[in-house]
Amino acid sequence: MRFILKKMNLDGTGWKTVRVFPMQISLDYWSAVTDVVCPICLDGIVVWYENGFIFGYRICNKCNNHFLAGGDLQFPYLILVETNHNYFRLSVKNNTCYMTK
Ligand SMILES: [Zn+2]
Repeated sequence: MRFILKKMNLDGTGWKTVRVFPMQISLDYWSAVTDVVCPICLDGIVVWYENGFIFGYRICNKCNNHFLAGGDLQFPYLILVETNHNYFRLSVKNNTCYMTK
């Protein structure tokens, strides 16, 4: 699926180039970035994974890629979160998202 490269400072540790997947515009912003077809595997569903931890956090229930919701109603998108960075390691256990250093 088509993505754009964008420089973002996701976690306050510096600007990095991330992959941004534009999503289909919906009636409201959150339904454009929640329970939608995964833009990477095109098979799984990108589900809500905030659990009071990281606002806008989403994970694909098939390929397990992690995303962060971004943009707005006119231009909703999902940012691919690279989970192998040593400064920002995330894992999922029992439907809860954990971040460790
Ligand atoms: Zn997927």
